[in-house]
Amino acid sequence: MKGNNIEALVRPNIRTLCPYSTARDEYTGSLGIFLDANESPYPTGWNRYPDPHQKALKAQISALKGLPAENIFLGNGSDEAIDLCFRVFCTPGVDNAVAISPSYGMYTVAAGINDVAVRSVPLGPGFSLPARALLDAADAHSKLLFLCSPNNPTGNAFDPAELEALVRAFPGIVVLDEAYADFSAKGSLRQKVLELPNLIVLQTLSKAYGLAALRLGMAFASARIISLMSRVKYPYNINQAALDQVSRALASPVDGYVSEIVSERARVAAALPAWGFVRRVHPSDANFLLVQVDDADALYAHLLADGIIVRNRSRVPLCAGCLRITIGLPSENDRLLQSLDRYEKGDIHR
Ligand code: PMP
Repeated sequence: MKGNNIEALVRPNIRTLCPYSTARDEYTGSLGIFLDANESPYPTGWNRYPDPHQKALKAQISALKGLPAENIFLGNGSDEAIDLCFRVFCTPGVDNAVAISPSYGMYTVAAGINDVAVRSVPLGPGFSLPARALLDAADAHSKLLFLCSPNNPTGNAFDPAELEALVRAFPGIVVLDEAYADFSAKGSLRQKVLELPNLIVLQTLSKAYGLAALRLGMAFASARIISLMSRVKYPYNINQAALDQVSRALASPVDGYVSEIVSERARVAAALPAWGFVRRVHPSDANFLLVQVDDADALYAHLLADGIIVRNRSRVPLCAGCLRITIGLPSENDRLLQSLDRYEKGDIHR
């Protein structure tokens, strides 16, 4: 898709929106007497509004992710970026979005809130990317296509070349959610936003970076798309405490945690088939395993009674009989395996 075709996809009133300009847009220095924003002058530590453009944190994330700051949007979790995609591109009640199914539930929830219909396309055999069916599902009002790789809840990552071909072929915006990409050997497509004008890549600090409580999501896209998202967001969408704490946390590498989770994932996946009630452990590129068992409700109830909380996905399309189990600390994974052993032996919690 050519860059100039993006404009035609933008919701018309957003294309011409005059965004809120904050008091600090006009003066960016840090020294001075600030009588412009009706703040309290008393130094509580939090009396000044945070930078609405998050310049310092974007510079840090730019270095970490290898993309210019103009290609980076920061949101209150990637959930904010998902919602903004609908608000920037979709006219409520008119436009629609295409999405793989099953996938992360917020795409459908955010679509519903924005009165946008979702055309769900089931994954192919072995949870493969249904590229042809996704393209066939689109019409002239399909502004967005949601893909998730590694996908939640199936755990598998799609082939990067297949994803790229689909982005090139799709006539609207493709939102590729890479929340779990740090755990995958298939890597990330985020550098491709520099050449693919209709690609938005989402990442988050909630998973591999261990900062879920701070709520920091990232969208990578062309400078034009980032500017549209920034104009629609709340002016101070990332609070000062999050800016400070994220900035400090990013100084400590998380590679050790990620490699431990990847090796624990392999250990738990290898242990599970030993029990007769485990039918299938789906291959995972994420920090969780999708496990098909004989009686998902009974096993879920047993684990819960044993103080182990997993996600029962057995009523999700293509996931009959499946529990989604997050990889924890080695000691927590041991506890899970011990509990499964007791379940197999009939020592069942009810
Ligand atoms: N994308 C996917 C695929 C997820 O599974 C989740 C959360 N479970 C999110 C996004 C939300 O991430 P955040 O905490 O950044 O809002």
